Amino acid sequence: MLTEHKREFTPGQAGTVHSNEQRPGKVYLIGAGPGDPELITVKGLRALRTADVVLYDRLISPELLHEARIDATLVYVGKGAGCHTMLQEEINATLVRFARQGQNVARLKGGDPFVFGRGGEEAQVLVEASIPFEIIPGVTSAIAVPAYAGIPITHRDHASSVTIVTGHEGKASSPTVNWEALAALGGTLVVLMGVKALPEFTQRLTAGGLSATTPAAVIQEGTTPQQRTVVGTLENIAERAASAGLTSPALTVIGSVVDVSSNLQWYEQVHQSL
Ligand code: SAH
Repeated sequence: MLTEHKREFTPGQAGTVHSNEQRPGKVYLIGAGPGDPELITVKGLRALRTADVVLYDRLISPELLHEARIDATLVYVGKGAGCHTMLQEEINATLVRFARQGQNVARLKGGDPFVFGRGGEEAQVLVEASIPFEIIPGVTSAIAVPAYAGIPITHRDHASSVTIVTGHEGKASSPTVNWEALAALGGTLVVLMGVKALPEFTQRLTAGGLSATTPAAVIQEGTTPQQRTVVGTLENIAERAASAGLTSPALTVIGSVVDVSSNLQWYEQVHQSL
């Protein structure tokens, strides 16, 4: 579906040498969706198809890059676990540099740019550099990945709130996650970036009073044909995910909504039957 409507473009825009006095290009901070390339928004796809330069992250569906103009400059700025291709400061500087050359930039980010995507920091840099920008929200993995595993993150009979939290506590200066308080909340918890820290945060949730029998699921590479789901309880999910060899990118859903998935599984079945 995505490749059918390739847009014509006006040649000669990319690669043109622009003088410093000319108006800066515009930066589009685009949520590319969680993995399935068809989960980008219509608005995001339009901006991607017309951009002179595309800066993209590690979790972007490679198929989306075929949507860029044939003469667009594609720049990989992904940060893999343990191998930082480009520091955030370099990404920020690259955004500003291309825009100052008068180029329109599609900054493609996994999921939604403002959900653990550092989109807020990039937008801040653009404001400071007086570069015009638009934020194009995306379908976040926090919602779409559970959905592809058949887990409704809220449900009238199970959960009336959902909390999206990071399992990877970064800089010492970042606000810390109060797992003990989350244990007392009662709604659904969706933990991003937390495969490695699973043993630690499940233990802290239990210590905070969340029942060890609370259903939990870890989903790897959700919304892609490689999607894998492991289901268990707060007590055994870390061990089960480890023995199944689940690795990043994966997220964890904790709460009784996970039980609903036993009869709502649809995506993995569709793909297995293909
Ligand atoms: N801005 C992104 C999140 C970036 S943080 C969003 O809105 O989705 C990166 C984390 O998101 C990963 O470590 C993982 O926990 C989660 N994630 C992203 N894509 C995923 C996928 N396809 N399947 C499972 N988890 C995913």
